[in-house]
Amino acid sequence: MTSSLMGRNIPFGATKENTYSAKVDEKMNSKTPIKTQLPLYKALPTVKSTDRIKPRGSRRVYIETYGCQMNVSDSELMAGILIQNGYEIVDDSDTADVVLLNTCAIRENAETKVLNRLKHLNHLKRQKPNLVLGVCGCMAQHMKTKITDAAPYVDLLLGPDAYRNLPMAINVVTSGDAFLGLRPDKGEDYADIAPIRKEGVRAWLTIQRGCDKMCTFCIVPFVRGRERSIPLPLLVNDVKRLVDEGFKEVVLLGQTVNSYHDGQHNFVDLLFAMSEVEGIERVRFTSPHPSDATDGMIQAMASCDKVCNQIHLPLQSGSTKVLQAMRRTYTAEAYRDLVAKMRERIPNLAISTDVIVGFCGETEADFMETCNLMAEIRYDSAFMFKYSARDGTLAHRTLEDDVSEEEKGRRLRTIIELQEGISHELNQALIGETVEVLVEGESRRDADKYHGKTDGFKTAVFPKVNSKIGELVRVKVESATAHTLLGEIVA
Ligand code: SF4
Repeated sequence: MTSSLMGRNIPFGATKENTYSAKVDEKMNSKTPIKTQLPLYKALPTVKSTDRIKPRGSRRVYIETYGCQMNVSDSELMAGILIQNGYEIVDDSDTADVVLLNTCAIRENAETKVLNRLKHLNHLKRQKPNLVLGVCGCMAQHMKTKITDAAPYVDLLLGPDAYRNLPMAINVVTSGDAFLGLRPDKGEDYADIAPIRKEGVRAWLTIQRGCDKMCTFCIVPFVRGRERSIPLPLLVNDVKRLVDEGFKEVVLLGQTVNSYHDGQHNFVDLLFAMSEVEGIERVRFTSPHPSDATDGMIQAMASCDKVCNQIHLPLQSGSTKVLQAMRRTYTAEAYRDLVAKMRERIPNLAISTDVIVGFCGETEADFMETCNLMAEIRYDSAFMFKYSARDGTLAHRTLEDDVSEEEKGRRLRTIIELQEGISHELNQALIGETVEVLVEGESRRDADKYHGKTDGFKTAVFPKVNSKIGELVRVKVESATAHTLLGEIVA
């Protein structure tokens, strides 16, 4: 997937539409030994976060984020790099000199959305010819030629390991060249960069990048590279800084967050260290891998008051046969036992999950095993998807996508209905109970109310009386839907 040639940041002197993709293709497909091509790249120095690159005119940057929380976190990192180099981050593409789409390659519809958005932005670029338009993140890494073919007016492409080069890339584009930065960098963890977060009470903190698991359906290891963890002492300092900035809750982020290991400390050490930071009220993490859920992790969750009694534990399928085809490294039985053990040791544990239906070879019997396991475990909530083959994954190369779209749709509707019923019942059961809620902000539907999350990450809505944003309050639940608890603050 990643040739040594792709490992170079390539500025190329063509911005004409018809030459852009040809240049990319030429470099991507070239069999010329890398040595003979080195002069092409020589001009580009490695950029360190501490370097100050003076912006040449394009100062206001608008970043639009697609996909998962990891991408949101990466956008905060990009903002940090840009601000450090003299750029201003704006909230509106119309007022920006630079528009960057930070993209996701996990599902086809995310890619389709980005390609449609690029068409729209091309209109803006026609009105503002100096506008710099860039695609960053997983989709840039995964689909470079598709993007440059479909949107030859895009000025820069940057993969997830190349955000440091953003200031330089914008300068290169402003000088009239296009910029391609897709070099995978095993050592890049951005540990020294301070992300710029929007104000709020919850901060997402990336503790690990990349993934070593190689699930057959997943593109992440190919676009984000091998797993690497940020040293624990740096993370502790980050959390202290977050407290100073007013954040009350931290969510530790990683593709398989509980496999965290910085060479000296593991995930359990990290949970304890985070809990000891004065001023942080809550600690969460996402997403753990079931195979890395150790007894130590369960013990830390049970014994650290600040670590929420909540876990997002991806199941993907209730059939061991399908899990093996997915290379998920656990069986349905092991997953069931893990949930039982966690529930036994962690009181009132809230569990959410991810489920994929219609994976290669999934029979009706396999699907029923998923339904049965979901009904047995009774998740608080679930993200549910139809399998969509991604170019470049192991499943795409080696397995037959043999469940029809129609059948995938039926299976998806079935589990959504099942899960909605369970979520509704579990929330209804909370009526009359008092839950602790971290107040996050004004309710979108009612200016007289606040919303916040419970320890179990359920949304609660309640009148503003006697509370303010950032406080932990006690809310007595009076009614509930499948997705929201409604109540009143009590003393
Ligand atoms: S654990 Fe599997 S699904 Fe999760 S990021 Fe890694 S390869 Fe993808």
